[in-house]
Amino acid sequence: MIADSFGRVHDYLRISLTDNCNFRCFYCMPEEDYDFTPASRLMQTDEIVQLAKIFVEQGVKKIRLTGGEPLVRKDAANIIAQLGKLPVELVITTNGTRIAEMLPTLIEAGIKTINISLDTLQPEKFFMITRRDLFHQIRSNIELLLQHKITVKINMVVMKGLNDNEIKDFILWTKHNPIQIRFIEFMPFSGNKWTSNKMFSLQEILAVIANDFTVLPVEGSPNDTAKSFMIPGHEGSFAIISTMTAPFCSTCNRMRLTADGKLKNCLFSDGETDLLTALRNNQEVLPLIKASIWSKKKELGGQLQTHFEKLDADAIHNRSMITIGG
Ligand code: SAM
Ligand code: SF4
Repeated sequence: MIADSFGRVHDYLRISLTDNCNFRCFYCMPEEDYDFTPASRLMQTDEIVQLAKIFVEQGVKKIRLTGGEPLVRKDAANIIAQLGKLPVELVITTNGTRIAEMLPTLIEAGIKTINISLDTLQPEKFFMITRRDLFHQIRSNIELLLQHKITVKINMVVMKGLNDNEIKDFILWTKHNPIQIRFIEFMPFSGNKWTSNKMFSLQEILAVIANDFTVLPVEGSPNDTAKSFMIPGHEGSFAIISTMTAPFCSTCNRMRLTADGKLKNCLFSDGETDLLTALRNNQEVLPLIKASIWSKKKELGGQLQTHFEKLDADAIHNRSMITIGG
């Protein structure tokens, strides 16, 4: 079992397969020129599987693959196939571009839920956010997943003045489609030029939706990071990830392994533990994992406060989101 000093048992591992991506979402990548980590410094397939097995032996029940864009990694199919053999729930967060060609691999590995990031339903705005003209490809890949009865969750980062006016359109999408929209509060990471006035909060999101719809809360699972809701008569549902205004730290069970093999005990931790170098030097990895999680701070990596209006994003020591793995 892996636990921290506050008694939180950690049984959910998020593995970043790469910090490379075929999109350029401005809120995720640093604004300055960004060099992707060379392949030799990334965990190799067998190293990912070895590390994952150590976590699974310690009670990890769920693994999420993320990135960067996990499906742009050349050997992603092999990694997914190998991790699919472990006794865990395997899930993935992706920008959705490579779903069609990867679908047989994902199904074969037993993946039943896929989170797809889509911040707008307008093709021009999609291009503005991602710098890629692939909106229609993503929409058709979402349809493909639904045809194959795979559970689809849509991650939408809500940013004031950019896409907050589309919240209602996303809710209307759930009327006849069994999808869950996950509205995410915009978070500060290294180089993403976060300011509090670009944030659209849980309360603001709920107020917009409640203006037009009857919103009923749905009881979630103990470790959920999202507050879930339903609207009577809608096939789908929605949830809000309120990391900034109402964080879920008290029930956190998450650990993050970066693509270069560093363990982060919190999305906002300023420190990290190098598991890959230890593995390559034949050192014991488990004591490093246990010590890292034991030292986890009570809330938000000890760096953020929920009075986000006063937050100085430049004072936060962290990686950019693309190098952590969201
Ligand atoms: N490339 C994949 C994708 O876009 O789904 C996986 C990696 S991405 C870093 C994981 C999630 O983090 C995405 O849903 C993305 O929208 C979210 N994300 C990135 N930067 C964020 C930020 N500054 N605030 C909130 N969510 C963010
Ligand atoms: Fe790439 Fe996902 Fe970040 Fe967009 S959010 S730049 S798709 S890793």
